[in-house]
Amino acid sequence: MPVVPALEALERLREGNRRFTSGVRSIDTLTTQTRLGDLVAGQEPFAVILGCSDSRVPVEIVFDQGLGDLFVIRVAGNIVAPSQIGSVEFAAQRFGTRLVVILGHTRCGAVQATLEELQQPNTQPSRNLSSIVDRIRPSVEGLLATELRHDHEALAQQAILANVRVSANDLRHGSAILERMIQREGLLVVGAEYSLETGVVDFFDGVPATV
Ligand SMILES: [Zn+2]
Repeated sequence: MPVVPALEALERLREGNRRFTSGVRSIDTLTTQTRLGDLVAGQEPFAVILGCSDSRVPVEIVFDQGLGDLFVIRVAGNIVAPSQIGSVEFAAQRFGTRLVVILGHTRCGAVQATLEELQQPNTQPSRNLSSIVDRIRPSVEGLLATELRHDHEALAQQAILANVRVSANDLRHGSAILERMIQREGLLVVGAEYSLETGVVDFFDGVPATV
């Protein structure tokens, strides 16, 4: 099984996002349905993306990728709970995928809802929704103790970045399997933010300085 090294995978994502923001599509993406037959026997996704469910951040589209390219996990607020960690372990072990991206985005409603919940607790929250808010809460509540609490826009922006950073760190250290693969097999976990305003993905966390 050919393993795509993490940094090569990262470059592919960057190139794909550049195509997306330039309004072009690669031939591979345009003709992706011709790969249907090749993929029946198996898959070799070159990156795992844990992104938000937000309809404005469709992962394959913003990275200009096609069938079989990306192993995608989407959940509101791109949180890292056990089922997400298990999904990443599965892809890394089963398919040899070496790059994992936590993809947050500007104006994330799940992060916003968490900030609102912290500032004005809802007396009867849904238990299921709370399971998402509770995952985001530790990343952002410290910000409410700073001057940022007076600046709604800046608070939301920093909360989104903090949530990505904490999620990436939870993934790096929340699993003995992933920790071992990071140390010995070149697995890389990076954090990124997609801008709804520009379409650009900024890889801002965990990217080695040489890149
Ligand atoms: Zn979101």
